Amino acid sequence: MPALRPILRQLEKEGAALGHFNVADLVLLKAVLGAADDISVPVFIGASEGERDFFGTHQLAAFLKDIREDSHIPVFLNADHRHSLVKAIEAAKAGFDSIGIDFSALPIEQNASRTKEAVEAIKAINPNIPAEGEIGDIGTGSEIHEIEHRDHANLTTPEEARQFVQATGIDVLAPAVGNMHGMAKSMVQGTKKKHLDVDRIAQIKKASSVFLTLHGGSGTVDGDLRDAIVAGINIIHINTELRVAWRRSLDDSLGRDPEQVVPYRILRPVVDAVKEVVSSRLRLFTAQRAGEDKVWN
Ligand SMILES: [Zn+2]
Repeated sequence: MPALRPILRQLEKEGAALGHFNVADLVLLKAVLGAADDISVPVFIGASEGERDFFGTHQLAAFLKDIREDSHIPVFLNADHRHSLVKAIEAAKAGFDSIGIDFSALPIEQNASRTKEAVEAIKAINPNIPAEGEIGDIGTGSEIHEIEHRDHANLTTPEEARQFVQATGIDVLAPAVGNMHGMAKSMVQGTKKKHLDVDRIAQIKKASSVFLTLHGGSGTVDGDLRDAIVAGINIIHINTELRVAWRRSLDDSLGRDPEQVVPYRILRPVVDAVKEVVSSRLRLFTAQRAGEDKVWN
């Protein structure tokens, strides 16, 4: 299977981005893999610390290793939002393809020094693992929030990005460019959407010269996501949209037949509902590429 870096470069050349989807259970994992397989595009599976605790770090890595052997598309595994050196090291040793180091809640100087320390520890285990660092405030929790989180004073500047990349040695930068974790109720209802500062993304790309990842992509205007890819975003995280589809379809499925107790009959429609959301995002991120019968090597 190809490595993550060449795939990111290839997608960038084609004006496409890698879709990153979080999984907490087998239903979500089946949905994400099924969608990527149908469309025949590479996919990035993410597990945050909470998701990893539920699934099991080693169990998820082992699962993916097995799945990859039969897969005709590149599948990568990301340790999303590691908040400590110990957790970053644990993921690197478990065989994750990429580690997201997140000290973004700290003042930027402390964030940079803690991130640098984690990058060095990861590279000592495997120099080929891309390490991601985060700056700026994009809120916490891929869930439904009562109101929209707004902190536009804390958007990442190109100069901050340049300095942070230089100080830490990260391969991937997660900036704050109008993106936010989770979705406000109005976004779930569809009356509101997130907007991205696309000019800022282009300036950050120029200043940092690394891969850029967009966290908190759920509920964003489609056109902004496409423009963000053209401006330099390489990876887009979608989690809350999947969780909303998961919950709604599970409610529907359980409600349809109170006597039904066979798990795979209850859960199959849930897989299909989540898969539909993933497919729509993957098609958007890969645009012209989707549906092409391509051999990945
Ligand atoms: Zn995130």
